[in-house]
Amino acid sequence: MPSHTGPPSPPVVTAATISTMLLREAREAVVEHCLRMRDDDLTVATSGNISVRVGDLVAVTPSGVAYDALTPAGVCVVDMAGDPAETGPVPSSELPMHLAVYRATDAGAVVHTHPLYATAVSVLLDELPAVHYMVATLGGPVRVAPYATYGTAELAQLSVAAMEGRSAVILRNHGATTHGPDLATAYTRSLYLEWLCRLWHQASLAGTVDITGRLLPAEEIDRVATMLDGYGQPPELTTG
Ligand code: 13P
Ligand code: ZN
Repeated sequence: MPSHTGPPSPPVVTAATISTMLLREAREAVVEHCLRMRDDDLTVATSGNISVRVGDLVAVTPSGVAYDALTPAGVCVVDMAGDPAETGPVPSSELPMHLAVYRATDAGAVVHTHPLYATAVSVLLDELPAVHYMVATLGGPVRVAPYATYGTAELAQLSVAAMEGRSAVILRNHGATTHGPDLATAYTRSLYLEWLCRLWHQASLAGTVDITGRLLPAEEIDRVATMLDGYGQPPELTTG
């Protein structure tokens, strides 16, 4: 064993270790929300994917890996062109959709799910109507994007187009995607979207009432959107 006389030499910092350190929190948040996505029944098996943007890098789930087995080190890191920032597993097949959302918006996170009610709505409607004021949290009634094969640039383009002015889109015969300034917000929007789809489905099941006269007008959704900006506790009571 060589004996050490001077101070220990600093660890070798490569580009890979820098990006790993930079995105450690994002990787942990991705893993945590994948487990929530599974527990909240927002997806089945390895379906769905989650990403977080940090500057010009994106931490994104690997393709087809069981959420139980996912670790922060197993989360991929890519640049905005989709090229790997470090060696690792193959990223989600829906990376083109995630990157398209980041290019078109100032989103900090994207959540793509395969939830039962949103997917049912995807084959029944062209737009989820304003059955509840909480559609305001998604920017208004949520459009259904036309079908395109999963993982394609076409699906990415159709999703982003249908998301214009919204933070959510329903994907025909497929599932749903939401975005937000951070992962907690993007994820909560996925929960709300699924709840709203379930509400529409439950109300429609009765089939005895024409709900078209009982939907909320755009002015009301705009008013609620403004109110929700200040909803809850003031920031000075929730920080620090
Ligand atoms: P990945 O496992 O490649 O992320 O694909 C899941 C999915 O939801 C495809 O649309
Ligand atoms: Zn999918």
